[in-house]
Amino acid sequence: MEHCICVTCGSQFAQSEREPASCPVCEDERQYVGRDGQRWTTLDRLRLTHRNRIAAEADGLLGIGTEPAFAINERALLVQSPGGNLLWDCIALVDDETVERVRAAGGIRAIAISHPHYYSGMVEWSRAFGGVPIHLHADDREWVMRNDPVIDHWQGETLPLWDDMALVRCGGHFAGGTVAHVPRLSGGRGALLTGDVIQVAMDNRHVGFMRSFPNYIPLSARAVRRIAEAVAPYRFHAIHGAWWGRSIAIGADAALRRSVERYIAALEGAYDDR
Ligand SMILES: [Zn+2]
Ligand SMILES: [Zn+2]
Repeated sequence: MEHCICVTCGSQFAQSEREPASCPVCEDERQYVGRDGQRWTTLDRLRLTHRNRIAAEADGLLGIGTEPAFAINERALLVQSPGGNLLWDCIALVDDETVERVRAAGGIRAIAISHPHYYSGMVEWSRAFGGVPIHLHADDREWVMRNDPVIDHWQGETLPLWDDMALVRCGGHFAGGTVAHVPRLSGGRGALLTGDVIQVAMDNRHVGFMRSFPNYIPLSARAVRRIAEAVAPYRFHAIHGAWWGRSIAIGADAALRRSVERYIAALEGAYDDR
């Protein structure tokens, strides 16, 4: 009996006698099954071949990512906050060295995840830190491959957390697609942690939006406007995306507005024949 982990998306599954027949997260049009077919691993095997790198992303914000790259290769973020640390997004690998280093950085009070592609090893992470709650938007409930009583399926548009942090439902990439607002980051000017619900572009000056990044399925203008409206009430100077180095350090609120305008203009034909 093992908890299998999908090699392509990093989702850990409920315990089973045999490998699951397929991975619903990867069968979905937003992800893909690798061209060698569905493959599985386990946490024990992953611990033999991979380790986690922990490094500062910004003041009060640590990145935690796996090396060499594994699955979607997102890195989690540990928000260091006086009332307790928030683990934002998650990765499949957790090992003794990681637990020790995260404890030394103040541990974890709760886990919150932007969308199902990063649910990954969330239950293992929760257990490693004493069974801390995991906040997931209820609209994405069907994508939880390993259920557990520590999961809080929150509903509605916002979930206030401690130290004035909040989870904000944006939808778009997934119905329950969520970002986190952390007012104390960026020197008190605020930051959004966005996963790929709001995707930081390679130029670190714009963001983009997609239903599927690997399969190039765009979102509608309406969906993108709704994302912009959902975060409009919040003050933020920085946006931290899902991968190392994908951050807009200054003026991220203006960058978001500019990017939304550019995206909608492109859909409406602004670049046709140019
Ligand atoms: Zn998968
Ligand atoms: Zn995604």
